[in-house]
Amino acid sequence: MLKILEQIVIGYDDRISERLSQTKIYPSKARKALGRHIRKGDPEGRFCRGRKIRKRGYRSKNRRFSTAFGKLDLPLRVAECLNCGAFYSPLLSALKVGRYAQRETNFEHEVIEAVIDTNYRRLIDGRSIDISLGGIHNIVVGSDIDKTFQEPFSVDDLSGIAADATGVNEHRGRKGELRNVIGITKAGKVEPLGCFTNTAWPEIERSVKERIKEADSYNIPFIYDGEPGLDGFLADVAEGQRCAWHGPRGLYHALWQDGLKKKYSQPETDKITQLIGIELPEGDFEILKEEDKDQVKAKYESSKSEIKELIKIFYEKGYIHGASYLEKLSDRLFTNIELWLKTGVIAPKTISLLERVFREIARRLKRIAWGCSDVAVTNISKMIMIRQYSRDKWEKYWKEKLGIKGYFDIQIQSVKLSPCKHF
Ligand SMILES: [Zn+2]
Repeated sequence: MLKILEQIVIGYDDRISERLSQTKIYPSKARKALGRHIRKGDPEGRFCRGRKIRKRGYRSKNRRFSTAFGKLDLPLRVAECLNCGAFYSPLLSALKVGRYAQRETNFEHEVIEAVIDTNYRRLIDGRSIDISLGGIHNIVVGSDIDKTFQEPFSVDDLSGIAADATGVNEHRGRKGELRNVIGITKAGKVEPLGCFTNTAWPEIERSVKERIKEADSYNIPFIYDGEPGLDGFLADVAEGQRCAWHGPRGLYHALWQDGLKKKYSQPETDKITQLIGIELPEGDFEILKEEDKDQVKAKYESSKSEIKELIKIFYEKGYIHGASYLEKLSDRLFTNIELWLKTGVIAPKTISLLERVFREIARRLKRIAWGCSDVAVTNISKMIMIRQYSRDKWEKYWKEKLGIKGYFDIQIQSVKLSPCKHF
């Protein structure tokens, strides 16, 4: 690949020089965007308008680039501008490589893809990527990913928003907390809304809110598992819904605090699970028979009153923790049923999608042995999320970054097989 790359780049360099020196053959249109250089001796460093050159051989030293395929030593052609007399390398400006840049953007791309796939070890050891772990860290931390993917979104496209936190190990045994907000689309897909490390929830809320285009208030649930600081999160666009899986589990802990062994608390938590597990009829809400809706409504009302009853019993039995836990939970347990009764939308009611997301992030973070900072954790999480769940946006981002505009095609005309020298 390195040899092929070398041939392609040298061929490209030759063509540029050909076009810029043979101005009688090539019209100015064929030289568009080529030969940009700074005017010789211009104190303000303005660009020269001259697009005609004389070839002046090659620089005495090859220029070395780190590429996705390894180190490339490239002879650099020198041109003299016939307008201002400046000496420059047309290839560098055509490739948009700065004067001293040693690294092509595609190299950064390969490194980041390798980190996400957790196969960067193999890439380094296999020498196809020539970079240290520290170098990888710098690329991750130096990425502009934290400033991108901030476009506005419409709450009306979502069926729910969920947020949760997970612990991460940082540099020198420091404990960090990764917080993640996702949207769940109407098709049940994850829409990343933000990754944050050691950031307060109100600040996260502000950052998510800034991107909200418009919303019919309260038509979607905000699902969480009782994380402190999340009661009332995004309260002006979404209705709080406690995770239908974590809710009963939390009750077990609360009753345990009241001194109840699992054997005795199990029937109570099972009862809650059963009360909130109201099945919604499938099919189009509009054409459902009223009696089907009434059935759900009746079940919802009886479940609600049974929970109220249960709270009363808990207080009577002296299960103070259990009672107050359930009390706090009770008006956020049926949000998805209430939404369905109001709008017919079947909204998510657990944060299981988010837990899967966290497992995927944790698996990769664990492999990064060099310890991470807040920025590294945030950036890597965001990269994993966007690549996994917004593949189109991820590819567009890199296409723009890599300057891939489809101006020319490279065709390999023939391939010859020969026996390997080493085996
Ligand atoms: Zn010039």
